[in-house]
Amino acid sequence: MAGIPPPIREPELKYTQIFIKNEFVNSVSGKTFPTVNPANAKKICDVQEGDKADIDIAVAAAKEAFKIGSKWRTMDASKRGSLLLKLADLIERDAQQLASLETLDNGKPYMTAFFEVLFSAGVVRYYAGWADKVHGKTIPVDGDYWCFTKHEPVGVCGQIIPWNYPVPMFVWKIAPALAAGCTLVVKPAEQTPLTALYCASLCKEAGIPSGVLNVVPGYGPTAGAALTGHADVNKVAFTGSTEIGQLILQAAGQSNLKRTTLELGGKSPNVIFADCDLDSAVKEAQEGVMVNAGQCCVAGSRTFVQEEIYDKFIEATKKLAEERKVGDPYDLQTYYGPQIDEEQFNKIMDLIQAGQKEGARLVTGGGRLGDQGYFIKPTVFADVKDNMRIAKEEIFGPVQNIIKFKTMEEVIERANDTTYGLGAAVFTNDLNKAMTFAQAVQAGSVWINCYNVVRIQAPFGGFKMSGIGREFNIPSSPAYGVFISQLIRYARAST
Ligand code: ADP
Repeated sequence: MAGIPPPIREPELKYTQIFIKNEFVNSVSGKTFPTVNPANAKKICDVQEGDKADIDIAVAAAKEAFKIGSKWRTMDASKRGSLLLKLADLIERDAQQLASLETLDNGKPYMTAFFEVLFSAGVVRYYAGWADKVHGKTIPVDGDYWCFTKHEPVGVCGQIIPWNYPVPMFVWKIAPALAAGCTLVVKPAEQTPLTALYCASLCKEAGIPSGVLNVVPGYGPTAGAALTGHADVNKVAFTGSTEIGQLILQAAGQSNLKRTTLELGGKSPNVIFADCDLDSAVKEAQEGVMVNAGQCCVAGSRTFVQEEIYDKFIEATKKLAEERKVGDPYDLQTYYGPQIDEEQFNKIMDLIQAGQKEGARLVTGGGRLGDQGYFIKPTVFADVKDNMRIAKEEIFGPVQNIIKFKTMEEVIERANDTTYGLGAAVFTNDLNKAMTFAQAVQAGSVWINCYNVVRIQAPFGGFKMSGIGREFNIPSSPAYGVFISQLIRYARAST
């Protein structure tokens, strides 16, 4: 595409150590762990493996940087904002390098990685603007008193991120915390540590003082658990599986009742009514589940299709799935690349087999693609029943499940019959149906005639076991955001 620098197939591996107090250092234990290219299952390099001892050092550094009178605590809020603006510029400057590194470590297509890096720079800029705009109120209390509130940074934040969107997840976590004046210890996912470490070097270059941001790569049960259980960590922000989210909440409670934000899994319903624009619904529904090789927490992994258009929808969905180009993530035409690792690959293949055993109709795909790396063919199941494993468990793979429904009342009940509540979508040209569904469905984001529209200005997070708290939000944001694409387009057309 015009204007996008070409990918670097062998990006330089500059940062593979732990980042504490603005320096790259080795682990206390001397241990390292390998990070692997999922496109060919070969080791990229070894990375210093942080565990409890390194977390202790990083937390101490963050605590010291947060001390009253420290450089960070006495810095003007507007100056924190300008450091973040600088960081955003640096992320953009190095977008080619960062995107190439992301493709190597994560396997996502270079084009996608490139746009994610630009999006991430935008996230940092958005929060830069907030740095000097978070203020309290004065309250007319009874009596001869004057009362006011003041927002305070919470302190040392532990931030644990997953592997599916490494650069965006890094900035979603660090940017609001830095804007607020907190200090941080970030633990990137063990599968994808490289871009977080690269971004750490950019934070230093932007001028963020020593100790304010520390990055400790390592495993969940060691480094991650040490962070969540640490008595000097005041808040933990986590994105990952619901299962680990439960452990994190327990650790937070048992240690020091640290504040917790959790952004967890989903099994999001996407409801296609017969009166929709079929071509657009077919395309959006499939992209809603297959984007990023299905490794997306809001994936629309239950496609409910109204019976009148059920057969037509399946036929068009099959054709589209078979046209998708899956393969070399450095190829600019590639739609999606490999799954992140062997464990995820096996889990997805197991669920595909469970779908077949339980009687779902395999419309296309269902197997491995090629003979190296962790590629899976775009897979579509029809005649899926609500009680099948593929309709209940989070698959996190390129598997679309098509389920038939008849009425609004029925589909609302079935859509909500899950422990999750992250995303939901509805496709219809009837405003009443759209709004009825949007209000009845239990989900943090509801999309109408579109899918996966995530924008910095709107809150993002889950109902039920999909999480606690909201990201991208500003103080006192509402419980959910509703995005309406087609209706807005109509409004524009008529003016
Ligand atoms: P996924 O299933 O997507 O790999 P996980 O929830 O397992 O998601 O991992 C997300 C992040 O949580 C990773 O950085 C991982 O290392 C970390 N993690 C895993 N187990 C724990 C744990 N017990 N405590 C803290 N962090 C953990």
